[in-house]
Amino acid sequence: MLIKKIRELTEEEEKKIICRNKSDLEDIMQIVSKILNDVKKNGDRAVKHYTKKFDGVELEELRVSREEIEEAYNLVDYKVIEAIEKAKENIIYFHKKQMEQINDLEVKKDGIILGQTVRAIENVGCYVPGGRAFYPSTVLMTTIPAKVAGCKHIVITSPPTKEGKGNPATLIAGDIVGVDEIFKVGGVQAIGALAYGTETIPKVDIIVGPGNIYVTVAKKLVYGEVAIDFLAGPSEVLIIADETANAEFVALDFIAQAEHDPNASCVITTTSEDKALEIKEKILEELNRAERKEIINSALKNSAILIGSLEECINFSNKYAPEHLEILTKNPEDILKKIDHAGSVFLGEYSPVPVGDYASGTNHVLPTSQFARMSSGLNVETFLKKITYQKLDKESLKQISDIVITLAEAEGLFGHAEAVRRRILKK
Ligand code: NAD
Repeated sequence: MLIKKIRELTEEEEKKIICRNKSDLEDIMQIVSKILNDVKKNGDRAVKHYTKKFDGVELEELRVSREEIEEAYNLVDYKVIEAIEKAKENIIYFHKKQMEQINDLEVKKDGIILGQTVRAIENVGCYVPGGRAFYPSTVLMTTIPAKVAGCKHIVITSPPTKEGKGNPATLIAGDIVGVDEIFKVGGVQAIGALAYGTETIPKVDIIVGPGNIYVTVAKKLVYGEVAIDFLAGPSEVLIIADETANAEFVALDFIAQAEHDPNASCVITTTSEDKALEIKEKILEELNRAERKEIINSALKNSAILIGSLEECINFSNKYAPEHLEILTKNPEDILKKIDHAGSVFLGEYSPVPVGDYASGTNHVLPTSQFARMSSGLNVETFLKKITYQKLDKESLKQISDIVITLAEAEGLFGHAEAVRRRILKK
């Protein structure tokens, strides 16, 4: 893992940290596009073929049955079910507050009524990852904002277990939120099925949710056929730590992010050289005890500890545009004012990322790979459309007609001009 002063980074080093795993996409695109075409052409048969190939499971049924969901309740610890229920309440609370901020709009200008009315997207497909770990929390994070937004039909797809079943906790989370259908299909084949529709899996209007690099590239390739939320790939965190930061907490948060994926990226920027060394030591200590050592070790190649002034740390963070940003400094709120790009920000030493991952109420599906430059995390607006409308009377049409006719004729669209001219000339 690189440990260096920000101002001494070579162009190459800076580019490597900021680009994280972006460069691998070209090769993966070819593999993904072949699978998508096959699913488009051969529907369920192709979905089953790739499930066997990549998940090692031969599936008869793609849809999870009611019996399987009932059975799941016997397999999951009651404490987990209770935690899902409690997290659900907090996530509903925050997303309902978001919804209250979104209202219809109507104004009148020069006699013309102009308005905007909000509608929910009807059919939603939520991808819930399930390769290296199962994510019942992602069921809550993807389906609850869709429910709060008022979407009519919400389905989940998630990879099967080695026994060819749905992951029990994932099924229970889906059942608790009240989704319409659950499919035990993961990876590219799931994204293809949601985008094109198969005999069993319905075509949706929007696909949301995180996934590994294959899932992320698949979402990118089906955009246009369906809408997508944004690209939410391997997880990342950037931590801004000053000399007051607790090195052990920084190391724990580093490990917590790295254990997601071998392609995860963790960058620590700190104002103190001593702190940088202390943090590195603590990371190595924690790594020795970690359960997912192999994954964390791989993620170290995308990771770095950088040293600079507070301004340099903030500037680097804005360049990096992290999915998660932790600010562990004396006055984190002051630094938040200077943050231009981040998916979600965690302020102070008692606000670790896992709280937002599971339970506080904000969403954990967040843009990665610098997408935080132009995209928000998942929220109720992801599932809403705004339809604009207008109403004129003869007088207001007359008043605006000159502008419309002039511009229409300048563009050579004489039919447009005539549609206005005839109306105002009519006795
Ligand atoms: P996943 O469900 O995304 O991927 C598993 C699927 O990948 C398998 O079902 C298989 O079909 C497919 N696959 C595996 N190898 C393949 C290959 N060689 N070719 C084609 N397809 C292949 O689960 P995962 O792998 O555990 O990844 C989950 C990801 O989601 C992690 O990177 C994690 O960091 C990320 N995540 C992100 C967020 C976010 O908001 N950004 C939230 C939670 C999780």
